[in-house]
Amino acid sequence: MTHLLHRSINTQLPVAVGGKGAYVMDQSGKAYLDASGGAAVSCLGHGHPDVLSALHAQLDKLAYAHTGFFTTDVAEELADRLIADAPAGLDHVYLVSGGSEAVEAALKMARQYFVEVGKPQRRHVIARRQSYHGNTLGALAAGGNEWRRSQFSPLLIETHHIAPCFAYREQREDETLEDYGQRAAEELETKILELGPDDVMAFVAEPVVGATAGAVPPAPGYFKKIREICDRYGVLLILDEVMCGMGRTGTLHACEQDGISPDLLTIAKGLGGGYQPIGATLMSTGIFEAFKTGSGFFQHGHTYMGHPMAAAAGLAVQNIIRRDDLLQNVFAMGELLAERLTERFGQNPHVGDIRGRGLFRGIELVQNRETKTPFDPALKLHARIKREAMSQGLMVYPMGGTIDGRVGDHVLIAPPFIISPEEVEIICDRLGAAVETSLASLTET
Ligand code: PMP
Repeated sequence: MTHLLHRSINTQLPVAVGGKGAYVMDQSGKAYLDASGGAAVSCLGHGHPDVLSALHAQLDKLAYAHTGFFTTDVAEELADRLIADAPAGLDHVYLVSGGSEAVEAALKMARQYFVEVGKPQRRHVIARRQSYHGNTLGALAAGGNEWRRSQFSPLLIETHHIAPCFAYREQREDETLEDYGQRAAEELETKILELGPDDVMAFVAEPVVGATAGAVPPAPGYFKKIREICDRYGVLLILDEVMCGMGRTGTLHACEQDGISPDLLTIAKGLGGGYQPIGATLMSTGIFEAFKTGSGFFQHGHTYMGHPMAAAAGLAVQNIIRRDDLLQNVFAMGELLAERLTERFGQNPHVGDIRGRGLFRGIELVQNRETKTPFDPALKLHARIKREAMSQGLMVYPMGGTIDGRVGDHVLIAPPFIISPEEVEIICDRLGAAVETSLASLTET
């Protein structure tokens, strides 16, 4: 009997006892190639000696200091590091403990900004259907994923949703990818006009969609148009790069590849690489100035924000990524992974789409490739693939066709930035076998 909730609900979980490089080891000595970085977290893999020594050094100095009493060198240095490489116009950092907290902070920053500048009627949040922005009530309300929201809907603030930018499922045959991107972005303008432009506070979106759809990149030009629309109506743009940010797509921030900067940017997972829980919200000069000349502070706070151990992990991970030029490897190994996935799955009649950027790749499984019809969610194909992959010693991140019935089962692949070409081959071999065995098992039941 276990008293640990996540174990009592999933009694099959192996016990992780160690980790080295791209591998996690369980109690029986079995090694799992971590091809998903947990949930796109472990960007440096496990047991990185330089992160461990930075953490030991910080622990010897000071484990905790409340931000109401002190600042710390390590948190200051991390903030400087993040702003030095931030998208243009972002110049202050709010350090929290994870992705949901970062999104909550961004939403409250947007709201406080409009109160400070004398526009308190601006309160509507627009986001996209199927999206996930975290599980706390504010972040959950922003998200448009019905499967995650439905039980809690009476508790959620009202938000408004437009279609995601999802070419595989939404692009029409008679339009180019670029035209589709413009059409998808124009939905934002329509929604702003419907709600009343003076009442809209923010638009929230994930540049490359991770957990809910499996590494879906935007159509070229989509985010440029979104930025333009937000500017036209004075709506703040919040980009959620909790999963796709901090190097995962081959550039430090995913939005760099779309040529835009947000007003608020949320980052988390790869920021500390899993060595400590950490997230951050980056804000624009304009928002900071409004706070400074208004209340003088941000009306928010958590006991563990700016935690020195978390900041030490974030700083070490970010310094190593730069020192070892790891974004180069993300790009090169990402291209190799895409090539191998196409070789392995390109002809599979049940793989409808292979997509992504950098070391953030996904495959979507469909019952019928012509009609793109997903498998019956009751078959739980994604869960079968996860089980098979784990038995082969491979961690990937599959999600079900539960996303509003609009996405097929899919598998997210997000290995550490230190991955080698040999490990890319192992990922594709083991994933190939897991997918084939899982598909075969559907006809046995
Ligand atoms: N936003 C996005 C885009 C995410 O993928 C996630 C986590 N999967 C979150 C927010 C929430 O982050 P956390 O689980 O650290 O609270």
